Amino acid sequence: METNISQRLLDVADFIPQGAKLLDVGSDHAYLPIHLLQEGLISQAIASEVVQGPYRSALENVTAAGLNQKIQVRLADGLEALEPSDGVTTIAICGMGGRLIADILTAGQEKLSGLERLVLQPNNREDDVRAWLSDHGFKIIAEKVMSEKGKFYEIIVAQPGQQVLNDFEKRFGPRHLEEKSAGFLTKWQRELEKLQVALSKIPEANQADRQALEERIQAIKEAIQDEG
Ligand code: SAM
Repeated sequence: METNISQRLLDVADFIPQGAKLLDVGSDHAYLPIHLLQEGLISQAIASEVVQGPYRSALENVTAAGLNQKIQVRLADGLEALEPSDGVTTIAICGMGGRLIADILTAGQEKLSGLERLVLQPNNREDDVRAWLSDHGFKIIAEKVMSEKGKFYEIIVAQPGQQVLNDFEKRFGPRHLEEKSAGFLTKWQRELEKLQVALSKIPEANQADRQALEERIQAIKEAIQDEG
């Protein structure tokens, strides 16, 4: 069975360690675990969904791919999908808002001990995800910005470890600030241009709004400046 997996999820797949036992929370069509199993990159996975429709579609796709023995599809809210005996080593939570991802991790945090890796792909509020990781003993080991259909997506990869982030690092990402990849620079250059247009439209008399926007612009300039 061919999956219609997006480039976004293919980029997420690159960060799932070979041989991982994966839990994909919010697995919708189960595209990510099906792809990883079909490519022989992992040997077992759990695809979980909280909503009936996407749960059924994940189940149908797993069955059509002949992977029922290797991918368990579970109807559950967040990390309630996880049993201690599952031996899951990597959890992926993708395609949701950053706040929802942080809420799912908070609600199930007692299930994270022994976990090797989190692969998170928030559609927005990446700062909430990084704040959660910083507050809960996870260290960010990789970050990627990719774009698809005109929208930028971030992938944040973490493992257990101490890393206390400041607000600037939570906003822009500690690895991004070190690496300044082309994707990262393009995303923030676009945002900078948008904010500069917005600033030009705020009347000089409206000093408070202008100052707030100028501070955001200055932070982006600092984040993307070439220190070399
Ligand atoms: N992960 C896939 C991807 O990245 O393409 C699907 C993304 S889809 C936009 C988000 C999915 O997360 C929806 O199918 C939704 O039902 C599911 N979801 C939202 N909250 C959830 C929760 N607390 N537990 C499990 N699934 C959840």
